[in-house]
Amino acid sequence: MAGKHTSLVFVLRKVEYAERDVIATLFARDRGRFSAIAKNARGSKRRFGGGIQPMRLLRADYTVRTNSDLARLESIDVREDFPGIEGDFDKIAFGSYATEWTRELTVDADPRPDLFDLVGRFYRRLDRADCDPLLLEVALRHLQLQFFRYLGSPPNLDECIRCGTPTESMQKVYALRAGDGIICPDCVRTGEGVGVVFPQTLELLRYFRAPQGRPPDALTNSDALAQARRIIDATASQFLDRRLKSRPTLETSLKDPGELI
Ligand SMILES: [Zn+2]
Repeated sequence: MAGKHTSLVFVLRKVEYAERDVIATLFARDRGRFSAIAKNARGSKRRFGGGIQPMRLLRADYTVRTNSDLARLESIDVREDFPGIEGDFDKIAFGSYATEWTRELTVDADPRPDLFDLVGRFYRRLDRADCDPLLLEVALRHLQLQFFRYLGSPPNLDECIRCGTPTESMQKVYALRAGDGIICPDCVRTGEGVGVVFPQTLELLRYFRAPQGRPPDALTNSDALAQARRIIDATASQFLDRRLKSRPTLETSLKDPGELI
């Protein structure tokens, strides 16, 4: 595929390189993740206009080179920026986390327009959202659960992962600490890490999965919110082998469950 290309891209990371260059990790709608060097990016306002930034939808012209994993970024054009994100500390924290999340959960040269569009919708949602950390969190959790679904490994919330008993007919509902989802008491194996799931946690996770209509009261229930976060983190740990760098900043923006009623 050597030659000149044009793609819609998001910047997932940028690193300054040598005197005036930038190396960017890009996520192209039609190409998946790849890296590109922007020569003289810190000097050329005409070709790049300072636009090589995460959380913008860009149209990128680039050259793929034979025998090199590093494409050459020729120029970019900002197609959509999200001014509502800039200038709001919490929105930047959520957006940066989602950007790093995308970088870690995608792989090079695997075109994923579904994930690309999902990330675009997330930025758009963040851009327009009220600056309420709980509502921003709904958007983030939705992104995460959709990512799991598209990657083929969502936590099962509706039935026991082993015997298929519907969650509604279980006397007690457990979740596997390994992150696979719900399991009924009869299927728990000796020594397997599980936790009892509150009904409100399930309600909240289902709302995160399909956030339509008014948020459930469970969103302001501190135990349910803390548990829903743990269940999503457990699933994420199946994909991530390290803690994301943007996580501590995100945590300062998350509503502390202790503040909730
Ligand atoms: Zn079962």
